[in-house]
Amino acid sequence: MGLSSGSVHKTEEEWRAILSPEQFRILRQKGTELRGTGEYDKVFQEGVYNCAGCGTPLYKSTTKFNSGCGWPAFYEGFPGAINRTPDPDGRRTEITCAACGGHLGHVFKGEGFSVPTDERHCVNSVSIKFVPAVATPSL
Ligand SMILES: [Zn+2]
Repeated sequence: MGLSSGSVHKTEEEWRAILSPEQFRILRQKGTELRGTGEYDKVFQEGVYNCAGCGTPLYKSTTKFNSGCGWPAFYEGFPGAINRTPDPDGRRTEITCAACGGHLGHVFKGEGFSVPTDERHCVNSVSIKFVPAVATPSL
């Protein structure tokens, strides 16, 4: 409580009203979706991933990579869009939406993936919403 300093402030009740139960469980109660079940795990279309809670752009599709970990993986977010907080157990670093404080997942460093940052943002599909870059032309 009290750590989030973002621009989007809502009460628990307000979040419950606009989020699905699963979104609420993950974004607001720091839950985790089941491995390999996320809708964006294997999506590599061009576009932007916004926060599912407040709509703030968080990740570009060009920073998404196939980590094989069972959750969507990105090597970097938009500058300033994502906050990092060490978990209480000191083992992992939680990532949250800087605007609304919504829980996204965790960030891991030095795992050896061939990505520019050597970081893996392990993000719940439930926490993000994909917006394709170009509307598909109707054929
Ligand atoms: Zn947000």
